[in-house]
Amino acid sequence: MDSLVVIEDLWKVYRVGGTEYPALRGVNLVVEEGEFLAVVGPSGSGKSTLLHIVGGLDRPTRGRVVVGGRDLVALSDDELAEYRNRDVGFVFQFFNLVPYLTAVENVELPLAIAGLPRAERRRRALKVLEELGLGDKAFKRPTELSGGEQQRVAIARALVTEPKLVLADEPTGNLDSSSAQVVVRAFRDVVDSRGITVVMVTHNVELTKFCDRVARLRDGRIEGVEVVRG
Ligand code: ADP
Repeated sequence: MDSLVVIEDLWKVYRVGGTEYPALRGVNLVVEEGEFLAVVGPSGSGKSTLLHIVGGLDRPTRGRVVVGGRDLVALSDDELAEYRNRDVGFVFQFFNLVPYLTAVENVELPLAIAGLPRAERRRRALKVLEELGLGDKAFKRPTELSGGEQQRVAIARALVTEPKLVLADEPTGNLDSSSAQVVVRAFRDVVDSRGITVVMVTHNVELTKFCDRVARLRDGRIEGVEVVRG
């Protein structure tokens, strides 16, 4: 397997007033192509900071992050924005769906922004919703869907541009345990069927059984990486 993400000696130090808070302190991590990796660790251990840097939402203080052969540190702000929009799908704890749009319209949004024709957008959005078992919910608004269904719509929206890498920050943090399992299984299925790579931050260790490997962060350092599925 090829490595999709290579992280070397990554540091992030936040400066607030005159005080420095090191959130990441020399992280080394490789994520393979087609892998479902969980990142776990206590609150404040640097999980979100790490995910934001890999997603181009933030820049490191020091170190290297190479995604798909591209060194993110070397990218200009415009290039980083393009990387973020085109090459990465994001799923967050709060689904961030537009409440007055239907599920399929929400999924179409990134394609509309990319300027795809209407019919093509609709076709692709419906296909991804089908894939996630939401074909019959396509014309419902978010308020008519359960939390787990809303999160699967958010996953569909992240997948519709066909990114190689999907980053999920506590995607089940707002769900009951059975909905959480359905959502993580949905990630598992799209990793297997599409060969994409998913990095999921979670504090729910129970959910890591669906992942290929688990990286444990503590105080801004990787404490260990375990293989869950061979
Ligand atoms: P986690 O996702 O594991 O809870 P975070 O990456 O959110 O951890 O935060 C890691 C550390 O960095 C924490 O101590 C947090 O308070 C600090 N931190 C995060 N974002 C900022 C910020 N914008 N300014 C200052 N400190 C921050």
